[in-house]
Amino acid sequence: MKLPELPREPIRNEDQPGYEKQIWSPSWKCFCCQDTGRIHPHLVKLIIRDYDFDCDRIPICQNSKCKFGVNWLHLGSANIDMRLNAAICQELDRFSREDWKRTTQQQFEKYRKRIESSFTQIAQSHSFALSHRTSNHEREVQQRKAEIEAITPEQWEAMNKAYLVGSNKDE
Ligand SMILES: [Zn+2]
Repeated sequence: MKLPELPREPIRNEDQPGYEKQIWSPSWKCFCCQDTGRIHPHLVKLIIRDYDFDCDRIPICQNSKCKFGVNWLHLGSANIDMRLNAAICQELDRFSREDWKRTTQQQFEKYRKRIESSFTQIAQSHSFALSHRTSNHEREVQQRKAEIEAITPEQWEAMNKAYLVGSNKDE
């Protein structure tokens, strides 16, 4: 049997392409566990400094407004950590919200600056092209003028004669 090839099925939004759009407003309701039921590791580390994501019991979200913590209860007390109680989870949620607000503002600032600088670049290249074209044009005009001025009266006469001869020929 030929094995099929499947597209990715990301669990988290930040793993999806075009995540930058998401960064403005996270889609989760609980900022303590990001709706996973498992308290976000960087928040856990605020309480358990040397917390090891791979080895330690899973700190379960007990935020009273969050219903996702129960999804982990079946793992049993040997695997889950219930010490981060409702009050702590609520505080972590508040902390994370502020953190996100800051991050969002920073991202927005970065984004705004990037847009601004690309606009400036475009404007500069446009005005460069414009001034370049104008100076080229100006140079051409001056050159023609100089060429015309350099023609001596004798040359004019000769040119006129040639023209007249030419037009006579045509008749
Ligand atoms: Zn939660």
